[in-house]
Amino acid sequence: MGLEKYQNDMAGCSRCSSCKWVPFNQMKSWRFAKACPSISRYNFHAYSGSGKMNMGLSMLEGRSQLTDTVSDIIFHCNLCGACEVSCKIYRDDIDLGEVLEELRTYCVEQGQLVPEHMALIDALKREDNVFGEPKSERGAWADGLGLKDMNREKADILFHAGCRYSYDSELSPIVKGAVELMRRAGADIAVGGREEACCGGRAFELGYRGEMQNFADDMNSRVKASGVSTLVTACSDCYSAFKYLYPRMGKELPVKVMHITEFLSEAVDAGKLCFNRQVPMTVTYHDPCHLGRRSEPYLGEWEGDKLLRPMDRKRTGRKGIYGPPRHILESIPSLELKEMERIKEYAWCCGAGGGVLEAFPEFSAWTAMERIQEALSTGADALVTACPWCTRSFRDAMSTNGVRLPIYDITEIAIQALGS
Ligand code: SF4
Ligand code: SF4
Repeated sequence: MGLEKYQNDMAGCSRCSSCKWVPFNQMKSWRFAKACPSISRYNFHAYSGSGKMNMGLSMLEGRSQLTDTVSDIIFHCNLCGACEVSCKIYRDDIDLGEVLEELRTYCVEQGQLVPEHMALIDALKREDNVFGEPKSERGAWADGLGLKDMNREKADILFHAGCRYSYDSELSPIVKGAVELMRRAGADIAVGGREEACCGGRAFELGYRGEMQNFADDMNSRVKASGVSTLVTACSDCYSAFKYLYPRMGKELPVKVMHITEFLSEAVDAGKLCFNRQVPMTVTYHDPCHLGRRSEPYLGEWEGDKLLRPMDRKRTGRKGIYGPPRHILESIPSLELKEMERIKEYAWCCGAGGGVLEAFPEFSAWTAMERIQEALSTGADALVTACPWCTRSFRDAMSTNGVRLPIYDITEIAIQALGS
């Protein structure tokens, strides 16, 4: 089974518990020193990255079995990757994130299924989106915008909206703004419309790798047929799938993949996009896990002793997308960026990832509220992020808890800063 591949990783865990905390040299206060939502919420070692590996090794060695309780703990995890960043500082021979993913695949193979995840996979099979909404309505967000159809017209760039932006009517205006920004920068854009499908990343995270491969194959054939040279997405989850998961599964897209923040940041530097309207506001920026530490490019398989791996072959979280969103915000006149305590590869998760939003909404909202409290502590007027899943998670958690803090996608702020 796949877990065997990670026997040394799991056996190597020294139970130092560093995976529960941001690294010492990054701690700024006790209040915001924790890294892992799962152990922080449930306060029992099994919920930590280490604990999950300990359980995995025990099952692999036949000392324990996969019970409902063990499976429940494995899935109470956002797959945010914060534990791996902290672990890597002390133990560079443990690929903790891959072990957590493999444990989910093991659960699915053993028939330990989460009903809410099964419903999501069923929705993907029926309608090619995680919500089970009609496939025929996928491209409705772009109606009337006059964008090219990738299936019929040639263009330089394919804009991939993703499931959340395509079907979450409160958030769909954000991608309209994103393509408007791209057009103002002179981009020649096509969209997939009703033919666009899920990236498949969520299926991978839930442990259904075969499903993910189907979506990756479909995406590859449509991108190849379209003739575009670049794919741009405003969804961090999709970006992480295209940038990291597809190459890892041997399905790398034959085009340049960019997140909207990379595209806009380059457009600002090239003088193609000018922010000349003042936005007098103090904001703090939330690094989405899937745009940050989980978007590091795939570095290839390492055969043999992981202790001998050179630094540039280790996933440390440092090569995620952190500069471009900050560059955009810093280019906007009168806007001030106030950073939270945990930023970049050490950022706290929004709570939406890993199927937690769907299966364990209370845990998801608790995780989001922890981040909102951190944002409020900066005194900023608003929280800005760059992922529709983070935006949805924060807005829902605040509405449930009666807390008010404006949440913006970074493109909404950039649109405000465009002059006429
Ligand atoms: S930081 Fe790594 S080695 Fe230490 S307890 Fe966590 S998983 Fe184990
Ligand atoms: S991936 Fe995130 S939630 Fe899961 S164990 Fe690691 S730090 Fe905790």
